Amino acid sequence: MQTIDIKNLKADEIIRKCVHCGFCLATCPTYQLLGDELDSPRGRIYLVKSALENNDFSSVSITHLDRCLTCRSCETTCPSGVEYGQLLDIGREFVEQKRPLWQKIMRFGVRKFLTTPLFFNPIGLIFQHSKTISKPSKISTKISGKVLLLGGCVQPILAPNINNSIKNILAKLGFETIETPQKQCCGALDQHLSGGREALKKVKTNIDSWLKADAEVIISSASGCGVMVKDYPNLFEKADEYYKKAQLVASKTQDISEFLADKDLRKLQLKKANISYHEPCTLQHGQRLGGLVATILKDLGYNPASVKDAHLCCGSAGSYSIFQPKLAKQLQINKLKNLQASSPEVIVTANIGCLMHLQNATKTPVKHWVELLDN
Ligand code: SF4
Ligand code: SF4
Repeated sequence: MQTIDIKNLKADEIIRKCVHCGFCLATCPTYQLLGDELDSPRGRIYLVKSALENNDFSSVSITHLDRCLTCRSCETTCPSGVEYGQLLDIGREFVEQKRPLWQKIMRFGVRKFLTTPLFFNPIGLIFQHSKTISKPSKISTKISGKVLLLGGCVQPILAPNINNSIKNILAKLGFETIETPQKQCCGALDQHLSGGREALKKVKTNIDSWLKADAEVIISSASGCGVMVKDYPNLFEKADEYYKKAQLVASKTQDISEFLADKDLRKLQLKKANISYHEPCTLQHGQRLGGLVATILKDLGYNPASVKDAHLCCGSAGSYSIFQPKLAKQLQINKLKNLQASSPEVIVTANIGCLMHLQNATKTPVKHWVELLDN
């Protein structure tokens, strides 16, 4: 009971910050597509408020909350600093009690499938995007430090070349890399698919094992995992023994772009190409690192084309494309049209979910941007 009260206090604090100005409506992808106030951030805040304050919600409220991509574009736009993502998590957990049983079973099945290597790996191999093509580099003789590279749950099977490229780049820069095993999912899939308790179990296991590794920096190459790990402290009450540990893990965690931003990358051999860059929502809105990858790429001599509506989600959004296929498809079509307007040879991005979702609908190769830096 106490947990819910404390969460409601947090929800109340967030709800009070909203001044109903409606600026967020203009940058919300679902409001743009559906034009319904209840599919906008302001409408969803109202739904969560009614649910938490008056226990007034229905399966229709769940539908509108489910349609939210959790892209957090509204947070970037909001002048009042409404932490919409946190509020949505609290609201979704609360309304879960009225979710129809068949939906609960489907959500359970999807998250178990995606986060259990025994189930996912054989199927994932069929859809594998890129095999390991980069050859391992020798570590530079001068060791600059030890880093922990997050393996993730689906990325090692779908695109093993991403982390192999990163290991090569880090070796050339003189860093010793330890990689987490595949089974250590960050917990995001459970957290966003009605599996809060299981997410918390995974999060605690991760915190303990990652702190034991004693690395100076924890590197994430999937911005969807990175944003979850940086949010770990929000999953615990301040009195919880894991709160401080979660803060330590979050403070050590960097997206690969943050880590490389201040390094001398001139010794890397680049793959030259005309590129178009899709910035994942989890990087620009979730981690607030908008523009960083583009800056690194420009410094290296690339000329990423400017992309219309770059702030909008591509429709991948974790498991969103499985549960909301129509909306996900429309967002994918819009995004690819804008990304391909400059006829790029390669589209690059920074998250495995976006990469797979975009690649499904285009012949233009879609890669993680770090793969350009490992020739
Ligand atoms: S969430 Fe922010 S931008 Fe949206 S209506 Fe509330 S205060 Fe305005
Ligand atoms: S998170 Fe994205 S889809 Fe959800 S309300 Fe905010 S802008 Fe709209």
